[in-house]
Amino acid sequence: MDLSKLLRKPPAEDYQQVDTFWFPEEREDYEYSDENEDDTSLLIGQHIILEAGQVSLNYYCTECEDLRTFNSDKEQGLRGIIVNKQVISIDCILQCNCGSVVHTWYLVEAEEDIRYQSPKVRILHFREKLTERVKLQSEKYGEFSEWLEKANRAHRDGLGSGAIIYLRKVYESITYSIANANNIPLYRGNGSRRSFSDILKEVDEQHSIIPVSFSANRYKLFSQLSEIIHGDGSEEDALEYFGALYTLVTSVLDNVTQKEELKSAAQKFNWSTNNVSTN
Ligand SMILES: [Zn+2]
Repeated sequence: MDLSKLLRKPPAEDYQQVDTFWFPEEREDYEYSDENEDDTSLLIGQHIILEAGQVSLNYYCTECEDLRTFNSDKEQGLRGIIVNKQVISIDCILQCNCGSVVHTWYLVEAEEDIRYQSPKVRILHFREKLTERVKLQSEKYGEFSEWLEKANRAHRDGLGSGAIIYLRKVYESITYSIANANNIPLYRGNGSRRSFSDILKEVDEQHSIIPVSFSANRYKLFSQLSEIIHGDGSEEDALEYFGALYTLVTSVLDNVTQKEELKSAAQKFNWSTNNVSTN
């Protein structure tokens, strides 16, 4: 497997064997052993060219208005800097056909030594610099897209609770928005605010915003989000459940776009309703 194939995957704990990717030019017959370990200090900070294939990652391109594959330059190859005998830093500019770029950075760690033949390596760290032209998230959810984008970015940066807060914001906002548009009160007769779960229950009973497949668990979803946000769940839980919670929240949004009667609530958020069925 080319190193570039590994660089298309998310960081992982386990090491994977990749094809030899570094061939030091002036040291063709160089063989590393414990006896010449002192050489290591000479390598730190050295720029190297890696024979590792082409890195490709998918992003939403706002120029193309679609999900696109962004590729590194095939001719130029990948460039790295030696951090130590086990770790290299790789900077990589990925480009869409339209010219939009995203800057990515990896720290790749070898289990033993990056100079070994077909070393076992893993991605220790991955960062990407997204821009107005390059996003993780399509913009089809209007104003919610920005919050979902932030949730995704926080999750990619390993910020579990932060990611969940944005998901909860979307879940609460769509619920309040539909309540407002349909005269479902947010306050009790005495002026105090109704609990979110009461409002959600009424909204869902009248308009079925929660997809049927998990409608029975609508409060469980919210309380699970709340538990994680309010610190009852661990940071690890937040990261682990993010994918599932994200799917649940976006399926609520998808469900609402399907419903003609809720169009006005969706429009409040400049939400695309072009594909709403009018049947
Ligand atoms: Zn593009």
